[in-house]
Amino acid sequence: MSSDRRFRGPIDLHTHSRVSDGTESPARLVAAAAAAGLGTVALTDHDSTAGWAEATDAARREGVTLIPGMELSTRVDWSSVHLLAYLFDPNNAKLVAETARIREARLHRAEEMVARISRDYDVNWDDVVAQTNPGATVGRPHIADALVARGLAGTRSEAFAGILHWRAGYYQPHYAPDPLTAIELVVAAGGVPVIAHPATVSRADVVLEHRMRDFVDAGLFGLEIDHRENTPEGKVRLQRLADEYGLQLTGSSDYHGEGKPNRLGENTTRPEVLDALIDRATGWQPVYAA
Ligand code: AMP
Ligand code: FE
Ligand code: FE
Ligand code: ZN
Repeated sequence: MSSDRRFRGPIDLHTHSRVSDGTESPARLVAAAAAAGLGTVALTDHDSTAGWAEATDAARREGVTLIPGMELSTRVDWSSVHLLAYLFDPNNAKLVAETARIREARLHRAEEMVARISRDYDVNWDDVVAQTNPGATVGRPHIADALVARGLAGTRSEAFAGILHWRAGYYQPHYAPDPLTAIELVVAAGGVPVIAHPATVSRADVVLEHRMRDFVDAGLFGLEIDHRENTPEGKVRLQRLADEYGLQLTGSSDYHGEGKPNRLGENTTRPEVLDALIDRATGWQPVYAA
């Protein structure tokens, strides 16, 4: 139990590095977590575990406990739903294949979006490549960075509110599995699934609510309640769902380096919840601070 566990608080269970759409290397992110006074940080890049090794070395150096994880892209109709996954086996063949498929779909989708944008604006695929770490999971944030570099937007947020918004007409979805499929994949890989920011204005809240029984039966562990994008009314609903289904509640920053205003440790997870999460995991171990 917790006596032999050396994780410390504060605990932040959701961050991104340059392996996906964060702006820092995994090592710099872990160093930033230490500097921000965190005791435990989870690295949860979109659809990739490519940062785990570097983050593991950095965690040992910095004296921070690392929870290796990922934020899996899933989709219900036209809504994207994000699933946080912790402490799964990163070599699990089915999960490896599915994440490769999603990254590939994201790449083609980004190329198609940029092709459409380039008919109206002076920006091309090379601009996006210049903003993307080789091998990274490509997303709209990389297109946003290209737009900023071209002077077509002031910041990532401005790009999202403008050219990248679905209303602008360039938006395109990409392949992603159903959330239930994703939960099953994570559980089969020994991991622990938590639905990320389930109550933002743009999420398919109602859809999630009527499918919660199936998600829980498949092994859903928790809901990320304390996240800056969850609405106050949504949080009330999440608390009720957690009570009804016996789900744990987590909190985290969703830090993206300079790519978003979110600051490390702005929301945190209670130690008892992390304890239960580690108890549930069979796929991988936390990297405990010395
Ligand atoms: P995508 O999955 O490619 O459609 O892009 C969604 C990603 O963009 C999310 O993971 C967020 O990290 C990021 N994002 C969404 N809105 C914003 C924003 N206003 N500013 C910066 N990044 C954002
Ligand atoms: Fe992101
Ligand atoms: Fe997300
Ligand atoms: Zn995220």
